[in-house]
Amino acid sequence: MAVLLYHEDFKLHDPSPYEHPENPRRLNLMLSGLRDYGILERFTIPELPLGDVEDYRLVHSEEYLRRVASRGVNGVEWLDPDTYISPGTHKALKRLAGAARLAVDSLVDGEDLLLLLPRPPGHHAGRNGAAMGAPTLGFCILNTSALIARKLSSHGRVTILDFDLHHGNGTQEIVYDDPGIQHVDIHQDPRTIYPGTGYPWQTGGPGAEGTKANIILPPGSRDDVFLEAARLAVDLIRGFDPDYIVVDAGFDGYRGDNYMSSVSLASPSYHELGAMLRRLGRPIVVVVEGGYGSGLLEGLPAFTAGLLGLGDPVGRDAGRSTRDVRERFEASAKELLEGLGLRR
Ligand SMILES: [Zn+2]
Repeated sequence: MAVLLYHEDFKLHDPSPYEHPENPRRLNLMLSGLRDYGILERFTIPELPLGDVEDYRLVHSEEYLRRVASRGVNGVEWLDPDTYISPGTHKALKRLAGAARLAVDSLVDGEDLLLLLPRPPGHHAGRNGAAMGAPTLGFCILNTSALIARKLSSHGRVTILDFDLHHGNGTQEIVYDDPGIQHVDIHQDPRTIYPGTGYPWQTGGPGAEGTKANIILPPGSRDDVFLEAARLAVDLIRGFDPDYIVVDAGFDGYRGDNYMSSVSLASPSYHELGAMLRRLGRPIVVVVEGGYGSGLLEGLPAFTAGLLGLGDPVGRDAGRSTRDVRERFEASAKELLEGLGLRR
């Protein structure tokens, strides 16, 4: 039976008295979405142990971990204009380290599907904090999916697939030179959105060429373009032939989810991507990243249903992109494939 990982301690990362879109209510939204569509009952929910934040030394510098440990101890502090840290954040991070350890142990022991609902999120956090020249940490503190991937990579080949609307710049920075970890990232055109990174010509550092892929969604993309991007991502994953798949699942491209996105997707995009990943037949751990409203209430259950081999329980209508958007997508996909030395 599939395994769901979350803990009430994840709500201790709390911006109060400030308002912030990344707040404890997000965990309730994730659980509500899964419960409302009958997905939650398909999972077992083990008790999550406290772990050791020092585990994150596999993906972050000691200096950065010391900086995180020293901040927000006596009240909410801002690491940068986007990103807060609160007294309870430290316990949430310990619990996340425990979740990462449990996820890796379970997969290595033969579990085939885990879903982690973490807070705070992580994919913008690079080795020393804000990554690849990004102005901020973008709500993220420690990169849990990169940690899970790095730990799994001592047991086999690992793919990270990130479909959050924003580029996983922290993840790219951390794994760019690692030939044992493929990183495929679908995100809105970086010239139009935070963090402004993640281009098709970036295909991996020395010794890891061809193991990284940035798939760009032009602003205005709808489900047809997203599904083309998803098929391309799955083709690339099949080509890498991983033993494990870590999915950085962001739902901030969902229609009406938030004010940041210029992409508008409905449940079929997420459901079909989940179904495609299931068909790869590899052990999968899903780590939720962005999503602030409708994306968590509808996109997350649709995606999870696809992973579980169920129909789309949300059942929204797919939207179609304009011709201009489709042509821009084709051009950037072609650039990516040429950079990888592949043709379709
Ligand atoms: Zn995002």
